[in-house]
Amino acid sequence: HSKTLGGNCFHYFDDEMNTYGHEYLSLITDLRKAIKEEQFFLVYQPKIDLHTNKITGAEALIRWNHPEKGVIFPDFFIDKAEKSGLICDIGEWVLHEACKVCKEWVSAGAVDFSMAVNISSKQFAKGNLDEVIKSALEYNDLRGKNLELEMTESLLIDNSEELKNTFKYIRKLGVDFSVDDFGTGYSNLGYLKEFDITTLKVDRSFIYDIANKPKNQALVKAIIQMAKGLELITVAEGIEDLATANMLIDFECDSAQGYFWSKPLSKREFVKFIEEFNSSKLV
Ligand code: C2E
Ligand code: MG
Ligand code: MG
Ligand code: MG
Repeated sequence: HSKTLGGNCFHYFDDEMNTYGHEYLSLITDLRKAIKEEQFFLVYQPKIDLHTNKITGAEALIRWNHPEKGVIFPDFFIDKAEKSGLICDIGEWVLHEACKVCKEWVSAGAVDFSMAVNISSKQFAKGNLDEVIKSALEYNDLRGKNLELEMTESLLIDNSEELKNTFKYIRKLGVDFSVDDFGTGYSNLGYLKEFDITTLKVDRSFIYDIANKPKNQALVKAIIQMAKGLELITVAEGIEDLATANMLIDFECDSAQGYFWSKPLSKREFVKFIEEFNSSKLV
C-alpha cells in the first residue's frame, strides 16, 4: 500500500518488500541507524472525556524523520521493525520519551494526565518489559497511574504464565492496559477474564461512517454495553465529525479520539491545543 502524505514525504511500496529482498534489508539498515541517531519523534493525539468534555490524556504515536526520505509513518515501518526484532529498542525509546514528556506535563499541573503508549507483542515476548517499564517510570520520576499501555488482542491470547506474571507486575506499578483496535483481532473473548484490563478501544473501522451504517451502530452499542458489564472503560477511535461524536455520547461511550478534535500534534502544538481547549493553563 502507499499512503498519500503530500509535501516532501516519501512513498514506499510494501509489495516490493519481501523479507530478504533488497528493499527490506536497506530499510532495516536505515532503522538501525535511526535508533542510534535518534531520528524518531513522537506526536500526541488528545483523548477527550465524553462525560466532562475535557482532555484527560494523549496517545503517543511514533514518526520517523528519515534524513533523505522525510517523515515516515508507523504503518510503514512498525511491522518490519517487529519482524527484525528492532521494535524492542524502538519501543524502549518511545517509552522513555513519552514518560519524559508526560512528567513535564504532570509537573506543570496536569497531575492526572494519562499518556498512552503502543506496545508490540514482541516487547512482551522478550521477557524484560516489566523492567523496562519500571525503569522508564523511575528514571522520569513518574507514577504508574500516569501511564497506559495499548496492545492488540492477539497479544492476550497467549496464556503463558510468564506473560500473565509480566502483566500483573506492570499492573501493580499502577499502569493501565487498554486493548487497541478492539473487535478486529480475535473472537474468543475469554482473555477479558484472564487479564486485568482497564480499557477497550473500539476500532476505527466500526466508527467510520457509523451514522450511515446501522450494523456498525449495533456492534458499537453492544461493545459499550459489554464493557460496562465488565467494568471496563470504553474509548472510541477515529471520530471525524460532530454527528459521530454525538452518537457515541448517546451510546454512553466514556472517551474518544479523532480528527474531529485533533490530529496527532507535536509537543508544542499539543500544549497550545490543550490550553485553548480546557481553557486552563498546562505549561
Ligand atoms: P493505533 O494505535 O490504532 O493508532 C491510531 C491511528 O489512527 C494513528 O495513526 C492516528 O493518527 C490515526 N487516527 C487518529 N484519529 C483518526 C481519525 O479521526 N481518522 C483517521 N482516519 N485516522 C485517525 P498512526 O499514527 O499512523 O499510527 C498507526 C499505527 O501504528 C497505530 O495504530 C499503532 O498500531 C502503530 N504505532 C504508532 N506508534 C507506535 C509505537 O510507538 N509503537 C508501536 N509498537 N506501534 C506504534
Ligand atoms: Mg493505539
Ligand atoms: Mg487503535
Ligand atoms: Mg491500529
